[in-house]
Amino acid sequence: VTLHHSLPVFTLAWPADAQVAGRNLLTLRVEHTMSPQRAGIGRDPRELGVGLRSIAVLEAGATWLPPRLRGGALVRNPPPPTATAAEGNQDAVVVTAPGDVVWWGHGYRLSEHVLRISPATAEVAFHALGTHGDTVPLASSRAVHEASAEHRDFVPTSATDLSDHTFLVARVEASSDAPVTLQLRRERLSRNRWSSAPPAVTQNLNVVVVILDAARPDRFGCYGGPRPTTPAIDTLANESRIYHNVFALVPYTLCSVPTMLTGLSFLDHEVVAPENRLADEATTLAETLSGAGYATAAFSSTPNNSRAKGFDQGYDVFHEDWSDGERRLPIDPHRLVSHAVAWLEQADEGRPFHLLVHMVPPHEPYQPGPEFDHFSDPGYSGAVDGDLPWNVAFNNAATTADEADRRHLVDLYDGNLLRADDATGRLLGALRSRTDWDRTVVLVTSDHGEALTEHGLIGHNAAVYDEMLRVPFILRIPGDTARTEDRRLGALTDLAPTLLSAAGFDVRSGDDARSLLDPDPGLPRVLILRTSHKHPTWGVRTDRHKLIHRGSAASELFDLEHDPRETDSVIDDHRLLAAALRQVMSDCRLREPLFRADDASNIDAEDRQMLEALGYVD
Ligand SMILES: [Zn+2]
Repeated sequence: VTLHHSLPVFTLAWPADAQVAGRNLLTLRVEHTMSPQRAGIGRDPRELGVGLRSIAVLEAGATWLPPRLRGGALVRNPPPPTATAAEGNQDAVVVTAPGDVVWWGHGYRLSEHVLRISPATAEVAFHALGTHGDTVPLASSRAVHEASAEHRDFVPTSATDLSDHTFLVARVEASSDAPVTLQLRRERLSRNRWSSAPPAVTQNLNVVVVILDAARPDRFGCYGGPRPTTPAIDTLANESRIYHNVFALVPYTLCSVPTMLTGLSFLDHEVVAPENRLADEATTLAETLSGAGYATAAFSSTPNNSRAKGFDQGYDVFHEDWSDGERRLPIDPHRLVSHAVAWLEQADEGRPFHLLVHMVPPHEPYQPGPEFDHFSDPGYSGAVDGDLPWNVAFNNAATTADEADRRHLVDLYDGNLLRADDATGRLLGALRSRTDWDRTVVLVTSDHGEALTEHGLIGHNAAVYDEMLRVPFILRIPGDTARTEDRRLGALTDLAPTLLSAAGFDVRSGDDARSLLDPDPGLPRVLILRTSHKHPTWGVRTDRHKLIHRGSAASELFDLEHDPRETDSVIDDHRLLAAALRQVMSDCRLREPLFRADDASNIDAEDRQMLEALGYVD
């Protein structure tokens, strides 16, 4: 067994006496032992899944290359790779059924090398498929280079770069009555990573990030919510840029926070499970700012944003507010903010600072307390109490909710949001009272969204529907005097580049992370989404469509323009687009991560207890 892009490759020698002419049957049996105990956590909650991507039949001594083609294609006899200026040619030989379509994803260039088709009489068409399902012809096999009785070689009319996201994939369609063998050659292009350089002339702008955990923007007053849930944040919004379409890539804190800190997708930072720790080699926003002379401090109320995860990289001070060293403390956003304000009071106004505050509300439990329970009906007599057990029972269909229950749940969530807003208001008050307020950038955001019974779910973690991923993104930049709206598609990978850009750094956008201050929104984006580790569901989102891929269950495709609530899958009407989006997802899952997460499996018992209370651990 060898590993290729984290995937195990099993090589089986085929004994000479097993090679018989005609139809042969190969039986694969998968056996696996799962651990009954996992380091004191209890029974292993994972499910074993096995997928077979392809079978390659090779000549003795030949090198196998991943096909990156549609699942089920038989790949045989790939010729040895040839080095080029790009990351390397990748050849694959594909046998298609009559009228079949095969794919290869973006991030490639259709090579100028000869492509080979056999039989020589077969016709093949190459198209690029756009983000909205539109197709553009790339090359035709009629441009014959050389032909023999068995095959025909041809050269694409021009080398075609598929590295931008305008075109998702190339589509190769063979029209023939008999199977067609295609020898494809493509060059994988280098990925474009975002980067930043300190300003030539320092502007000494402070950078403040306030994370309200599990905050969904449509409940905020400034996003058009129906209630005064966010009076303090609404005041900030009056002099801010309001981004309407910024999404978490994953609906859980542990995995989303490192994306916010580094501008890396979970595919590249690999912090996806409790035992993972952000690699020291990854560069965080705080490290960049600290390197430019900033004083840095973080105040967190959740063990999912903690030193144990390696998220303290670059912070002079990293305050963990769930424990005083002796006892576990109750969640209190005001206590958290009071620590941050105390730090601000001693901070030198002549030196720029970076402050991050991560409070738990409006995250479960939705128990705002009498001071902030402004929206619920005192006469409500149902079972909804805002706490995790009832919500979990609802998610497991162990209980149901009537209209009054649903209303009460939202009422409690809104009260919890008001509580977070009030604490945010105290922090903003402390910032405004400083002489450097006119040099202070402020971002109010969340690490993910929250479902409030949509799609039969409460909370987050478990789905990639928009209600679990859309986040508020309210950016105050000194000098802005009025509110502005921005509806471009963005992601939490953009947080670090955007803030550095706002602070005057010279930021170059990359494929996955961009500055949202760039007046040019850039090429259409494709976001790769995933749920938490227990039962991963994957998704791909463009500005218009979302494909949701759930293992063995039927995939869904939503047209978000006409169906923003994601209720009616249109996959049967857009098979080509769905296949293309699935191919992009598959390509991303196969790529090498930029960083390997370190191991942090020794989480202490108290943190684990806290995580359990938040619903993160079985
Ligand atoms: Zn969270």
